[in-house]
Amino acid sequence: MIGRILYYSGRPQEVAYLLQMKKAFQHYKPIEKRLLTISETTTDRAFCYEALKKVSRSFSIVIQQLPASLRDPVCVFYLVLRGLDTIEDDMRLGWSKKEQLLRSFSEAINGPSFTMEAVGDKEDYRDLMLHFDKVCRFYRSLDPHYREVITTVTHQMAEGMVTYAHRTIVSYDDWSDYCHYVAGLVGIGLSQLFSASGWEQSALLDDRAISNEMGLFLQKTNILRDFAEDLQHDRIFWPEEAWKPYVTELVDLQRQPKIGIAVLNNIIVHTLQHIPACLTYLKHLQNKHIFRFCAIPQLMAVATLKELYGNEEVLRQNVKIRRGKTAKYFMAIHDFTAVKKEYLAILKQLEKNNLTETIHPLIESIHAL
Ligand code: MG
Repeated sequence: MIGRILYYSGRPQEVAYLLQMKKAFQHYKPIEKRLLTISETTTDRAFCYEALKKVSRSFSIVIQQLPASLRDPVCVFYLVLRGLDTIEDDMRLGWSKKEQLLRSFSEAINGPSFTMEAVGDKEDYRDLMLHFDKVCRFYRSLDPHYREVITTVTHQMAEGMVTYAHRTIVSYDDWSDYCHYVAGLVGIGLSQLFSASGWEQSALLDDRAISNEMGLFLQKTNILRDFAEDLQHDRIFWPEEAWKPYVTELVDLQRQPKIGIAVLNNIIVHTLQHIPACLTYLKHLQNKHIFRFCAIPQLMAVATLKELYGNEEVLRQNVKIRRGKTAKYFMAIHDFTAVKKEYLAILKQLEKNNLTETIHPLIESIHAL
């Protein structure tokens, strides 16, 4: 506690944002009861929003702030893909069972009463899967345009997950390909939902490559951040090209932290290359709420990368950005000018790590936007 007070005493602005956020977002907080209990008394729609609050931290708020006509489809999209990811991440499931569940998922959500027992490595995930029929019914109440996007992305993502359950991520290209399936497709699907809603009209949203990069940047950041947790569960997502030249097994990076940090830093530098595409995408968004929905996670990602750079702790535990920083993004970022300013500040700090050659062109590209 005292440590925290001292910590924030030098950051009075962040304390102010934390307090503002606490007050402003009170009604976005999940209720204490388990989803299992909530499911007995709520409508499908209310259950889905409660589930959203439980299973996603940052996304839940920005989804609930979307324009009304987009809120429901994006909420369902998130929960359906959370369901798929819950299957992918459950390392207790046998391979053939997992493959069968993944492959049948996009069809199952269109069926009458799809639920799953004892799937998921967290209590909230297991509760959600146990009542997935509620998500499916809510899904089936959506406009056919939205359903089409959700089913197509779910089907393609499942195919990618099946492929990569057998395949090692060897090169950086493999890494981008895997991230395309589990996150790039989400970026592409979201662009399609935005266009279908009529809230966004930019032709840039039809550009699959740029929407893909929006997802890639977030996913690669999460994969870097979750190193220790994934390793603990025998999940390996760091590309071999980055670490195999130095160590035989990924776990060796924990035993030899100097090498671990060097590898981590190299992958961060690779990941930063998505920034110009992501900022170009953000620049073209017209609706303020859709903009915030897209921009806040991107900002949290770039701030996370800065926090991970050269940080030995990443090798042993999840490193997160300060809550005060997150609060600042939620409370103070409303337009592209504010995003640009924050990116430039973060990149200038990163540049000090002898990274002028990498970072300078990125800074220039941001200035040009
Ligand atoms: Mg996963």
